[in-house]
Amino acid sequence: MTGAQYCQVAIDTPLRQLFDYIIPPACDVHPGMRVRVPFGRREVVGLVVRTASVTDVPVAKLREIVGTLDETPLLGEADLKLLEWAANYYHHPIGQVFATALPKGLRVVRKRAARKNGSAQPVASREPITVREMPYSLSNAQQSALQALVAARGAGNFLLDGVTGSGKTEVYMQAVAAVLERGGAVLVLCPEIGLTPQLLERFQRRFDAPIASLHSGLTDKARAEQWQRAARGEARIVIGTRSAVFAPVPQLGLIIVDEEHDASYKQQDGDLRYSARDMALLRGQLQDVPVVLGSATPSLESLHNAAQGRITHLQLPERAGSAEPPRLALVDMRAHVVHKGLSAPVLHAMRRHLEAGSQVLVFLNRRGYAPTLLCQGCGWVAPCHDCDARLTVHMKTGRLACHHCGAEEALPARCPRCGHAVHPLGQGTERVEETLAAEFPDAPVERFDRDVLRAPQALAGAIERVHSGNARILVGTQMLTKGHHFPDVTLVVVLNADQSLFSTDFRAAERLAQTIVQVAGRAGRAGKPGEVLIQSLYPEHPLLNILLNEGYAGFAAGALAERAAAHWPPFARMAALRASDVTAAGAARFLHQARTLLAPPAGVMLRGPVPAALARRAGRHHAQLLVESAQRPLLQRFLAGWVPQLGGIAAPRSLRWALDVDPLELF
Ligand code: ADP
Ligand code: ZN
Repeated sequence: MTGAQYCQVAIDTPLRQLFDYIIPPACDVHPGMRVRVPFGRREVVGLVVRTASVTDVPVAKLREIVGTLDETPLLGEADLKLLEWAANYYHHPIGQVFATALPKGLRVVRKRAARKNGSAQPVASREPITVREMPYSLSNAQQSALQALVAARGAGNFLLDGVTGSGKTEVYMQAVAAVLERGGAVLVLCPEIGLTPQLLERFQRRFDAPIASLHSGLTDKARAEQWQRAARGEARIVIGTRSAVFAPVPQLGLIIVDEEHDASYKQQDGDLRYSARDMALLRGQLQDVPVVLGSATPSLESLHNAAQGRITHLQLPERAGSAEPPRLALVDMRAHVVHKGLSAPVLHAMRRHLEAGSQVLVFLNRRGYAPTLLCQGCGWVAPCHDCDARLTVHMKTGRLACHHCGAEEALPARCPRCGHAVHPLGQGTERVEETLAAEFPDAPVERFDRDVLRAPQALAGAIERVHSGNARILVGTQMLTKGHHFPDVTLVVVLNADQSLFSTDFRAAERLAQTIVQVAGRAGRAGKPGEVLIQSLYPEHPLLNILLNEGYAGFAAGALAERAAAHWPPFARMAALRASDVTAAGAARFLHQARTLLAPPAGVMLRGPVPAALARRAGRHHAQLLVESAQRPLLQRFLAGWVPQLGGIAAPRSLRWALDVDPLELF
């Protein structure tokens, strides 16, 4: 018994507050437990954030808790603090923040089925952990990185900046071993579900320790089970994607954020738009635990933090073992014959590598058969009726699909306007696969994109065919750039690097550089020398040249100088207020009113509203208002006064808005 009479409960509503309830005398309630409470005319599941012996609410108005769902708290004090902090920083209703953190399976409880979650008492770490596979003897750089991590008991931020194949994962695993040996547990975040099985497998092979894995590919039930294994301290290693950053891990001794630059760490839509990387850093501070951010292409934010001394910069400049760095070269598309998007030098190099018995990886960041369906009679282009976008041709399914809203229609045989024949224009992965299959009939092609690899098992099968040598050519999107280790790939081809060279988004250059370096890093990872060919119509472009001549570090230094001069993040702090409505005027009106709601203090600037680059999506018109400041506290103080007032703006029901603090994409 706590003796407390009242408790404050987080409930999944848009209201920006906790709700006070009376604890009935027979009820043993502690912070971090789920409770059933009456809410309006419903009964809902809430999470107790605090207990108290006083309340500000007139007692006559208070209602009693119906019952508890847990015998012991699911979340610890530091976990609760992290979520409260997230609600404040992202200016988001606290109940919805808790809803983001708890798996769905633990948030909805049918009355009948409501069963108590038994002993959630952290299981004291058992037995010593056996290391199954002999670790390598580390290189000097690996050794000093490891020493820094192991020496950091208590909070400490590290950037493990190591070229692809430099043995970052090996350093993580040896750091993990040290934590496990002293009875601790670790949290490992990775960006994509596609990556989880491989990382998971490497950890399983190395450690005879219980592992929980948390990712979006799990059913609600399985996810809740894995989450509870973590919460109860049954798992000593918790591996998961973005939202795993909120998973409770008793005895936490280390947090690893692999591929920290990856955009999927940022929740870009939906409710709470948070950065799991930033939350990991905060969590490390709150729980007194070191945090390692690892990447071959660190975000400019992290490099800036390292330069400012807020993060310790650990570098692995060379590939592990005997692997050599790949050689990068540009192919001038204007100077060569191009056949369906493939230049003569690229086809020639592919033949050479295939004849030598190697595998070739072809990267193209565009799925489907062709990005456009064109009528050569009248110039008609198949449009999406609900978006400012064209429909993508999918030949195999015989459909046209919008990659923005998901709308689909049948592929027309003739132009609906003039009746002339229509033709797919441009290249997508489906078409490149077809072209390569015709060009290299003896080399089986494996395609990696969301259309062919919807299920996680499908990806595992494709990876297996590559490893067994049954696939010789790999064609794919972004999916191929991440984390995979394909030892027999010696040639990487980047088909179209130009798409984002002229983007209006100030982060486009950073993303392009990261993509090129990451995909290039798939070449020659096992002692066989690697070659990378990048096709471009603009081979003189400074971005491509600095990347080729000075590598990612050179690019990053230049890009940071540009950001500083332009007062862009990380040298400024931003938040985007985004609104959408069924008319452009509706979204604009809301943002104009938001703009005049509260005068910003000196040092805080409002810009806009402006329509989004792709203004109409799924029949809704999107616009945004930017809030900027050179200083984070100034921005935060303004948002704290401003955001709670936004709900008071009179707007039609069709209007939706959301605040995005530290937005990654200014769409
Ligand atoms: P990264 O995570 O930086 O891409 P990995 O940890 O996956 O690199 O290492 C790349 C390859 O090098 C893997 O096959 C790994 O087993 C091997 N490796 C890592 N460290 C060493 C080492 N010290 N000596 C020899 N091989 C190593
Ligand atoms: Zn659309």
